[in-house]
Amino acid sequence: MAHGPVKIFTFEDGPFAQNTYAVFCSDGKTAVLIDAGAGTARALDAIEAAGRTVAAILLTHAHLDHIDGLAEAKRRTEAPSYLHPADKVIFDQGPASAQMFGVPFEEPPPPDFGITPGEPLIFGGNTFDVLFAPGHAPGHVMFVVRGEPVAFVGDVIFAGSIGRTDLPGGDLRTLMSSIREQVLTLPGETRLLPGHGPETIVDHERRHNPFLVPQYGGEFV
Ligand SMILES: [Zn+2]
Ligand SMILES: [Zn+2]
Repeated sequence: MAHGPVKIFTFEDGPFAQNTYAVFCSDGKTAVLIDAGAGTARALDAIEAAGRTVAAILLTHAHLDHIDGLAEAKRRTEAPSYLHPADKVIFDQGPASAQMFGVPFEEPPPPDFGITPGEPLIFGGNTFDVLFAPGHAPGHVMFVVRGEPVAFVGDVIFAGSIGRTDLPGGDLRTLMSSIREQVLTLPGETRLLPGHGPETIVDHERRHNPFLVPQYGGEFV
């Protein structure tokens, strides 16, 4: 089992500038798609060009901008999709939500598997630990690649910001405890790959994120 580290490619796209991630697993053959936003087509092109097979589509949560490429991903791959059951209600609102924002949306098939936080998922020689981090969305999870300091955090935390909590099922107190208990407890050098914007690391956000430092009133509610 002489595996190298995973390789991660970011595909930012769409009106919401969402980050879709392609993870090239250590086995040299497998890829995992993390979220299936507007960058999905380009992510799949890259995965196909590398001769890899998508083993899974992992969804951090079901907001429109994270699933508007899912129909295409399901059409072009055999990969099952995974979503925490508490976000299914948001998943089902996809078409209505797209209409509200006035963006095109192809309705994807329902998730194939429910995610259970604490039950790791294993693909291509890599273990993805699942951390429950609600607050931005009721069934929001984060995926941490075990043995590597990397976490896919969706819309929980961003470089210099945090997820919005004014959408249905959002709650600021819940989000702040998710950040405190699930993000800030990760090793300080852990890369945080968010659903929008550039990557950052835990220690940088701990010290500089205006929502997390007391002088801005963000003292971990
Ligand atoms: Zn979101
Ligand atoms: Zn988002």
